[in-house]
Amino acid sequence: MSTKICVVGGGSGGTIVANRLAEKLRPELESGEAEIIVLNDKPEQIYKPATLYMAFGRSELSEVKRPVEDLLDPGVDFRQKKAVSIDPESKQLGLESGETCNYDCAVLTTGSKLDMAGIPGLKEAGHHFYGPDGSEELREELANFESGHLVVSVMGVPHMCPVAPMEFSFLADDWFRTRGLRDEVEITYTYPVNDIFGLDTVANWARPLMEERDINIETFFNPEEVDSSEKVIHTVEGTEMEFDLLVAIPPHKGAELVKSADLGEGEWIETDKHTLEATRAKDVYAIGDAADVPTSKAGSVAHYESGVVADRIASQARGRTPSARYDGKTVCFIDGVDGNKATFLQFKYGEEPDLPEESKLIHWAKHSYNEAYWLTAKGLL
Ligand SMILES: Cc1cc2nc3c(=O)[nH]c(=O)nc-3n(C[C@H](O)[C@H](O)[C@H](O)COP(=O)(O)OP(=O)(O)OC[C@H]3O[C@@H](n4cnc5c(N)ncnc54)[C@H](O)[C@@H]3O)c2cc1C
Repeated sequence: MSTKICVVGGGSGGTIVANRLAEKLRPELESGEAEIIVLNDKPEQIYKPATLYMAFGRSELSEVKRPVEDLLDPGVDFRQKKAVSIDPESKQLGLESGETCNYDCAVLTTGSKLDMAGIPGLKEAGHHFYGPDGSEELREELANFESGHLVVSVMGVPHMCPVAPMEFSFLADDWFRTRGLRDEVEITYTYPVNDIFGLDTVANWARPLMEERDINIETFFNPEEVDSSEKVIHTVEGTEMEFDLLVAIPPHKGAELVKSADLGEGEWIETDKHTLEATRAKDVYAIGDAADVPTSKAGSVAHYESGVVADRIASQARGRTPSARYDGKTVCFIDGVDGNKATFLQFKYGEEPDLPEESKLIHWAKHSYNEAYWLTAKGLL
């Protein structure tokens, strides 16, 4: 009997899991006993970590995107289609085109999207570096910004790459310093909870660095509305902040099919943190940003989860009990300190990370990883 595996999403998690599956199930693919399909709503994959650098002219659009099809093993069937519904009873995905796609096992890896409309006025007044279009626009703003108040505001959690707003703040500090404009530009970093980061070790590492670099810190700051004509952020807490340039980390949301199929309480798929099975739908796995497992929304998470899910599905396809488990392994680099120094955090579920002292060596390690990313997506690293 043939096993049809349908991966929804051709981003980091989707391409890695599909390629790992192709490697593990090679004999079954060749004999027609297994089929792997990847559905992605767009022809290309964006390497999102590079959009941080695009805003500072350190990376180009052509470097951050690749056709999904080119990243996939030849044994994987790529279809440029958007999935709009999933019926776990009949094991069927509904596609925007009106077609359906049956599966024996589905992997949902639909990532997260920016909700610019989630805060009134944000679309009109705010900029961001969380996607290529936003970063290109922001690059123009930064290139022309010579004085005033730059506010880097995290407008909701969870969001992709929790450390990226800090990295942006450090890079912005360096950007204006190297241009001799730092005295003309005030930088403020705002965060919604009672500290500058959710993990104490990271907050304790970053706070003094921000203070030394005159980056203002504002916590318990939850934007409710942005007045685009007056350039003021109004918060749920009743405070307000004026800005000249607003760089927002907009609220995030999940794919519509998560809500329509009631796969979780809110935006994210309720997922067993070790087996990565969707708890509300049989034979459905969730990986990457779409899953609600208690760790960061980070590409490294999608990467490590992909190996576990590919192992589990390959075991199931061969009639064996799956045994691979995800332990929460997460790795995040924090780059941009003084422009070219970085550190990194590595942890598993329930652990507090240790951060090595920031260095140029770690900065180059991060950039080497960025350069090699497309090989990772192909499953070669
Ligand atoms: C500025 C920035 C910096 C970052 N830096 C880092 C970093 O340094 N390190 C790190 O580990 N992570 C980083 N990340 C986070 C990382 O990019 C994400 O966590 C990672 O891309 C998640 O992978 P994913 O496969 O879950 O989602 P994605 O890579 O977003 O892929 C989801 C895919 O699904 C497609 N899709 C969505 N809905 C549907 C649908 N209904 N039907 C079909 N296709 C659909 C999308 O088009 C997309 O191709 C960063 C993110 C940003 C924005």
